[in-house]
Amino acid sequence: MATVIPELERFRGRLVSEADADYDESRRVWNAMIDKRPALIAHCTGAADVIAALAYARERELPVAVRGGGHNIAGLSTCDHGVVVDLSAMKRIEVDSDARTARAEPGLRWVEFDAATQAHGLATTGGTVGDTGIAGLTLGGGFGWLAGKYGMTIDNLRSAELVTADGRVLTASEDENPDLFWAIRGGSGNFGVVTSFEYDLHPVGPVITGGGVFHPIERAPEVLRFYRDFAATAPDEVTVYCGFLPGPHGPVIAVAAAHCGSLEDGERALAPLKSFGSPVHDAVGPIPYVGQQSLLDDLLPTGVHNYWKADYVDGLSDGVIEATVEAYARVPSPRSIVLFIPVNGAASRIPSDATAFPHRDPSLVAVGIYSLWSDPAEAGANVEWTRETWETLQPYATGGVYVNDLSEDEGEDRVRTAFGSNYDRLAEIKAVYDPDNVFRLNANVRPASVPLS
Ligand code: FAD
Repeated sequence: MATVIPELERFRGRLVSEADADYDESRRVWNAMIDKRPALIAHCTGAADVIAALAYARERELPVAVRGGGHNIAGLSTCDHGVVVDLSAMKRIEVDSDARTARAEPGLRWVEFDAATQAHGLATTGGTVGDTGIAGLTLGGGFGWLAGKYGMTIDNLRSAELVTADGRVLTASEDENPDLFWAIRGGSGNFGVVTSFEYDLHPVGPVITGGGVFHPIERAPEVLRFYRDFAATAPDEVTVYCGFLPGPHGPVIAVAAAHCGSLEDGERALAPLKSFGSPVHDAVGPIPYVGQQSLLDDLLPTGVHNYWKADYVDGLSDGVIEATVEAYARVPSPRSIVLFIPVNGAASRIPSDATAFPHRDPSLVAVGIYSLWSDPAEAGANVEWTRETWETLQPYATGGVYVNDLSEDEGEDRVRTAFGSNYDRLAEIKAVYDPDNVFRLNANVRPASVPLS
């Protein structure tokens, strides 16, 4: 039996409340730290359901959370006592292989999106863990293995259809509602519920050159310096990450890369990764693009307790290297990760005010401190280590942060730093499309008091 609500008679999807057997499964999100109890989870089938669920919540002044893939680390896609507009059942995707575009619904995960587009030998920049949702990732910016060549996910967004707080269905593109289009490319879920995204696609794979090399943790300082030099001179086709990770026999320092051009060029471009040092494991070579896209899946599984903090640093200085090496030596959980992700190539050549995502300087490196653990009793030690590690990086931090990496307890000032100099324009656009701040369970932009004229 599903919950029946007379006022939602025309709702076509499934309504789930505490009375339903699948309530616990339905309210679960990726991060096991998050344990919220919504009054209603509205599993939408399309824009009409979204409109109905929003109207229901607004009439009752209930908080509204919007869920795509449910991966938001802060648990912003669920809430206590409110309505979750759950889009996870909306998974239609149409690929136009001639036009090289895809129209995709917001319930898709990257593994599903990639499978559909790779069937045509096409891809766009997307998340590096397969079960991450396309929706939240796209709206925040979107780092991925193709960023150096094709820019971030938002740089490949052609248009989106969304439902506004007052129930209108709008298209956002360069030609229609261009202010809204600017805002949703990095402004997160502040402006409406996106019911479909249209992306540019590119010929990629099916086999590319990629994978990772793994070095003993004791070699971390020289591996990180090598990574810094390699990343600085790599061509756009190469996107390369470096990280402290759990290995099968204890912690390792890994360099993982993807080259999205020809296999010959890829072999040449990634050769330095194979010849540097004495790796304990070298898995760089030809790899299906979909394999590259699932490289990190096992490290970041669903249902584990997580606490993350992140920042941008201005280059991988010796100070950053020293601070992270020392911190990782004290990591309480063997599952935790510190990852360096560059703002590289095409992603770094877009002006910082061209979209709402402001962090475009090629010297920027995103540092993710990702604590993962299984026993809830270990929360204190892991949260403390994450915060301490973040503190030790503050002398090198730019003060900005990737909006999709914000944790729950970071506060309004940090949200402002995520949007940087674009915040005021976002606040003006928010005042036009969501003046009552219905969409506030996100990295929230407060509506400006004076709307755009
Ligand atoms: P959700 O939790 O469903 O939503 C996140 C936010 O977006 C919420 O505020 C929600 O309200 C809003 N939202 C979701 N759907 C919609 C919609 N349709 N309309 C309006 N608002 C909506 N980021 C990267 O850039 N690259 C990566 O490679 C990457 N890898 C990751 C791997 C893991 C394991 C995790 C946990 C995160 C990763 N991230 C990555 C961060 C990721 O971008 C965010 O977690 C993002 O929020 C995930 O999107 P989602 O749809 O799963 O999230």
